Amino acid sequence: MNFNTRLLHEGVKKQPNGATFPPIFQSSAFAQESAEDLAGIFENKKMGYCYTRVANPTITAFEERITKLEGGMASVACASGMAALSMALLNILKAGDEVISSASLYGGTIDLFRDIEAFGINTKYVENNNWDEIEAAFSDRTKVVFAETIGNPCLDVTNIDRLAEIAHAHGVPLIVDNTSATPYLIRAIEHGADIVVNSSSKYINGSSNSISGVLTDSGHFKWDKEKYSILGEYLKFGPMAYIAKLRNGLYRNIGTCLSPFNAYLNVIGLETLGLRVEKQCSNAFLLAKWIEETYPDVIVNYPGLKSSKWNDIANTILDKGYGAILTIRVGSKERAFEIMNNLTIPYILSNIGDTKTLVVHPASTISLHSTEKELEDAGVYDDLIRISVGIEDVEDLIEDFRNAI
Ligand SMILES: *Cc1c(COP(=O)(O)O)cnc(C)c1O
Repeated sequence: MNFNTRLLHEGVKKQPNGATFPPIFQSSAFAQESAEDLAGIFENKKMGYCYTRVANPTITAFEERITKLEGGMASVACASGMAALSMALLNILKAGDEVISSASLYGGTIDLFRDIEAFGINTKYVENNNWDEIEAAFSDRTKVVFAETIGNPCLDVTNIDRLAEIAHAHGVPLIVDNTSATPYLIRAIEHGADIVVNSSSKYINGSSNSISGVLTDSGHFKWDKEKYSILGEYLKFGPMAYIAKLRNGLYRNIGTCLSPFNAYLNVIGLETLGLRVEKQCSNAFLLAKWIEETYPDVIVNYPGLKSSKWNDIANTILDKGYGAILTIRVGSKERAFEIMNNLTIPYILSNIGDTKTLVVHPASTISLHSTEKELEDAGVYDDLIRISVGIEDVEDLIEDFRNAI
């Protein structure tokens, strides 16, 4: 089956009374028939639900759809993309460990890596796709390699196959943030990623009506007993070790669960992921090409353009499109603000992945607290506008940008 058919039918279990949608189980706890049954669930010997902080049928329905879509073994949905990233990393990291990460990251993730320094976990930043630098960054302490499929807002595309190969040669898993690319453009697990994280607040939900995140384990990584002794007793579950530890450990104990209502909204959004992203990518491509051809003094960055440094990698690893985010450099901060204020269709806000087109000036907002080096790595300049393209009719977007520029 192809993408949209799979989206609607794979991982979808029969619902009570023939319902075509999973009901919202807006219940904190679940009663059992007997004391033995409840004890069985607590001992992981019996399937069932006990408490929504651990699991909930509506959330399971969302997780199962994502697992199928990403081609993984199991998923855990969280209250936000940041929660999912925190869980994905902290599940296997402890004091003294190191992460090797692409320096081109979402600002929130850079902040998270800074926060976990307080727990003795350090991150070595490397230039994305710079294999010599990446190779040289490994030490005995390296426990995770991390990158974004399409860096936000730099829009560099990661050669996931190559990065996974290097990580695996060192016995280390590759964790990928697939938020900007979405499973429509790439199933990172097929390219060797071990754990995939999506901020489902963005394209998966699609209409920006709830914050959430989800991580998916491929089940492929062979955890070395000594190197990943943090997995402890869960190592006996083999490929399930990582997810079993997470669900019975940090996820439950820190309490990063998703609300069942938000899981329900995500299931609605997910059904149109393919249609939306197809249109968003096509709009982004047409808008980027039009701006590049029409305004020689505006520098357009979009992985789908021949002028992009990452066009070749994008052509080899992305299916069906180049993402729906582009950035433009317009000469000065004043001109950037003027153009943003002149636009009538896009919302001025710091989000991506909405059905509606969104614009933001990263330097004065999401990257406000970044150092000079972080700005450079993220490809953020004072005259840069980030555009997250929606599903509007592209003629209207072009007309709006023509008037604004
Ligand atoms: C938005 C975003 C996140 C964080 O997700 P939230 O749902 O806002 O917590 C992480 N990574 C990327 C690439 C993002 O765009």
